Amino acid sequence: MYNIMSAKAEEFIDDSEILSSIEYGKENKSNRELIKSILNKAREFKGLSHREAIVLLECDQEDLNAEITALSMEIKEKFYGNRIVMFAPIYLSNYCVNNCTYCPFHYKNKTIPRKKLTQEEIKQEVIALQDMGHKRLALESGEDPVNNPIEYILESINTIYNIKHKNGAIRRVNVNIAATTVENYRKLKEAEIGTYILFQETYNKKAYEELHPSGPKANYAYHTEAMDRAMEGGIDDVGIGVLFGLELYRYDFVGLLMHAEHLEAYKGVGPHTISVPRIRPAEDINLDEFTNAISDEIFEKIVSILRIAVPYTGIIVSTRESKKVRENVLKLGVSQLSGGSKTDVGGYSVYAEEEDESAQFDIEDTRTLDEVVNWLVSLGYIPSFCTACYREGRTGDRFMKLVKSGQIANCCQPNALITLKEYLCDYASEDTKKKGIELIKTELEKVTNPKVKETAAKFISQIENGERDFRF
Ligand code: SAM
Ligand code: SF4
Repeated sequence: MYNIMSAKAEEFIDDSEILSSIEYGKENKSNRELIKSILNKAREFKGLSHREAIVLLECDQEDLNAEITALSMEIKEKFYGNRIVMFAPIYLSNYCVNNCTYCPFHYKNKTIPRKKLTQEEIKQEVIALQDMGHKRLALESGEDPVNNPIEYILESINTIYNIKHKNGAIRRVNVNIAATTVENYRKLKEAEIGTYILFQETYNKKAYEELHPSGPKANYAYHTEAMDRAMEGGIDDVGIGVLFGLELYRYDFVGLLMHAEHLEAYKGVGPHTISVPRIRPAEDINLDEFTNAISDEIFEKIVSILRIAVPYTGIIVSTRESKKVRENVLKLGVSQLSGGSKTDVGGYSVYAEEEDESAQFDIEDTRTLDEVVNWLVSLGYIPSFCTACYREGRTGDRFMKLVKSGQIANCCQPNALITLKEYLCDYASEDTKKKGIELIKTELEKVTNPKVKETAAKFISQIENGERDFRF
């Protein structure tokens, strides 16, 4: 039985509720009155239920689909402006005891070189990332209680935060590691992580069990209930996602929104971010075996409707996507982007010279961070290296309240400009610098609050004089 307030995975992600929502979506795909009423509700910017969202996903009316696109762009603009938060992943270890059939790190893959970074090597990787200009990382690791115990992860987080090289600093470490215990989540919270990220991969229990034949991750309920445990352990910013292409996308789309609804109802805070990875080719992984791949068109529609359904949740797109797709989804709702990423252990520096046959997946967007920043600026976006909210304690429901009141724009916009300025002074190529300085000038003019504008301008000139790390 579907129960949004249940602590049990099979009840808050109820299979029959998902299936009947999909049916409802299909039945109403041409129901213009219903679709229009859902769009009108969405225009109040309070989000949509999973049932309403699937109707929009199914909608086959050309003019109404155009309205959906326009509304997602409006919501993106209203809550996120033209800021795009930048980050990069750091792979610590590809030792893994799980057997995820889509991931080359799986235990049975004997051909992949297994690597685990020492603290000294982590330092080297982080210096390389700092020298690119990154301030925010997503820590990634396989699951292996012997090779990568929680103590290793905690020590690594501490190492990362403490590396100060030139003007560089990693100011926020988000963590993407396997589902764990409340006690371990508490330790991660104490280590001052930003967001705890865990992808569900698929919400379909049967498919999940087939895709995860052995290892701790094979336990569907333990994995699906992980965010509840993370919140119990004190982590209030959690990031969810599915790996599109594993199961049928409608099922996972509805499941993702039901998960978000559950977290909001049961824990009082919805997810901080939603990631929308699509499965990619990799060593030992034959994409022909995964027949549920989704087209760019469906992918873009999913992003659009997520933007409408959960207006206050950030949407993350990685370098799994091409430049072209990234450009499209930026308009429709994406608020965070990775740049210059490597998905192999030590890929930035320690093992940078080696062939990347140990990568987790092939990257589609292989541009450097500077190229990505240059491209964003040319498109009129402000690449933001801001980490202020989390450092000011604006997390969980405090963050959500600020976003909902529209107040966040008063900090995010100037913070984006300030951190872009730091990037331009310390890391940018001449061309990026030139374009970026112009953008900052134009964008500063648009700040409406005179006091905020004056302070931001002051910070920017102090950065020019060598000072760093200002924030609102
Ligand atoms: N090992 C942890 C786990 O599985 O939750 C966390 C990190 S894992 C390195 C990060 C994510 O990469 C996985 O959750 C999965 O969705 C994604 N991934 C695995 N194989 C992939 C592939 N072939 N293409 C795209 N993404 C993949
Ligand atoms: Fe291990 Fe994660 Fe890859 Fe699964 S997805 S094999 S748990 S690294």
